[in-house]
Amino acid sequence: MDFELPESHRILRQTLRDFCEREVRPHARGWDAEERFPLEIVPRLAELGLLGIRIPEAYGGAEMDTLAYAIAVEECARVDGSLALTVASHNGLGTGHILAFGSEAQKQKYLPRAVTGEWLAAWALTEPGSGSDSAGMTTTAVRDGDEWVINGTKMFITQGSVGGFCVVLARTNKDVPASRGISAFIVDRGTPGFSASRKLEKYGCRSSDTVELSLENVRVADEQRLGEVDHAFYDTMQILDTGRISIAAMALGLGRGALAMALTYARDREAFGKPIADFQAIQWKLADAQTGLDAAELLIHRACWLREAGQPYSAEAAMAKLFASEVATRVCNDALQIHGGYGYTREFDVERHLRDAKLCEIGEGTSEVQRMVIAKHLLRR
Ligand SMILES: Cc1cc2nc3c(=O)[nH]c(=O)nc-3n(C[C@H](O)[C@H](O)[C@H](O)COP(=O)(O)OP(=O)(O)OC[C@H]3O[C@@H](n4cnc5c(N)ncnc54)[C@H](O)[C@@H]3O)c2cc1C
Repeated sequence: MDFELPESHRILRQTLRDFCEREVRPHARGWDAEERFPLEIVPRLAELGLLGIRIPEAYGGAEMDTLAYAIAVEECARVDGSLALTVASHNGLGTGHILAFGSEAQKQKYLPRAVTGEWLAAWALTEPGSGSDSAGMTTTAVRDGDEWVINGTKMFITQGSVGGFCVVLARTNKDVPASRGISAFIVDRGTPGFSASRKLEKYGCRSSDTVELSLENVRVADEQRLGEVDHAFYDTMQILDTGRISIAAMALGLGRGALAMALTYARDREAFGKPIADFQAIQWKLADAQTGLDAAELLIHRACWLREAGQPYSAEAAMAKLFASEVATRVCNDALQIHGGYGYTREFDVERHLRDAKLCEIGEGTSEVQRMVIAKHLLRR
C-alpha cells in the first residue's frame, strides 16, 4: 500500500526492511527464548536514526514526521515485536515527553544522548494498583526546598532496567482531583533510591526489558521536573495519543509479518495432493488478513496525517490502535492455524508474533480503554 508515500518514507521502509531481515531476523527467536534485551543492537538502531526519529536535527535526531515513526515501528515489528516495542516506547514515551514538554536545558541534556543510544528512555506511569485508572497512582513527590522527594512503585516499565533515564509520573497535590495534581520528573539511572526491583517474565515481547521500579526517597532537583507542576496528567494524555499510533503500527507490522509467513507456508505445504493454498478455507483466512491489515494501515495513516496537520486526533489514534491490535491478534492466530502443528512449535516464528501481538491490545491503554476514548469523543460531538 505504499503508493501514496513520499520517496523519503519509501527509502526509510526499504532500509529498515533490509536491516531487519539481515540483522534482526537471525536473532529474534533466540533473544525471545533467552528473554534477553539485546543491548548489542542499540548502536545499530542509533546509526539508522531509529532512536531519534522525530527529534529535531539540532539535537542530532532524524527530524522525520509521525508517519515515518509509524513506518519505522511497523518494519521492526514485521520481524520482532520486542524490538518494535523498544523503538516505540523510547521515541514515543520517554524522549517524546521531553521533546513535547521539556525545557531547553532538558532537551540539550537528554535528547542528544537518547539519539545516540547512550541513554535509552523509560517512562513510568503505571503502578501495581493503577493502570487503566492511571490517575489513581499512589507514588508521591513532595517538595523539599529546591528538590523533590519521590516515593512509590511503578509497574511494567519498558526499558526500566536498561534505560539511562526514566520519566516518572507522581502525585504532587492531594488536595485536588487526582488528574489535576500529578507532575512529571526525569530520574537518571543511578540516582540513590531508584532501582529496578523486579524483572517481569512475560507471555510475549520477551526480549523487551519490562520491570517493576522502586523509588525510595529518590531526590531530584527542581530542574528535573518536566512541565508545569500538577499538569502532567494532561501532558501524559497527549503523549499517549502519539504512543497509540506507534502501538497500532507495531500491531500492523506483526500482522504483516505473520501473513507473509502464512502465504509462504500455504504455498509450500501440501495436503490431499495439493498445496493447502488451493483450499478455499485457507484462502479466506488470507483474504481476511490482507483486508484487515490494509484497513488498519489506512486508520494509522489518517491519525498520522491529522497529527501532522495540527488537528485533534485522540479518537482517531484510539481507533487505529483498537482496530489494528485486534486485527493483528486475529491475523497472527489464523497464520498459526495455517501452519498447523508446526505453527504451535517454536521452530516457526508465527507463535512469537501471536504472543507479541497480544500486547498491542493491552499496552498504552487496553482495547476497553480505547473504546472509552472513542465513545467519549463521539458523545461529545
Ligand atoms: C509489556 C508491557 C509493557 C508496558 N510498558 C509500560 C511502560 O513503559 N510504562 C508504563 O507506564 N506502563 C507500561 N505498561 C502498562 C500498561 O500500559 C498497562 O498494563 C495497561 O494500561 C493496563 O493496565 P493494567 O495492567 O493495570 O490493567 P487494569 O487497568 O487493571 O485492567 C484490567 C482489565 O480491566 C479492564 N478495565 C479497566 N477499567 C475498565 C473500565 N472502566 N471499563 C471496562 N473495562 C475496564 C481493562 O481493559 C482490562 O481488561 C506496559 C504493560 C505491558 C504488559
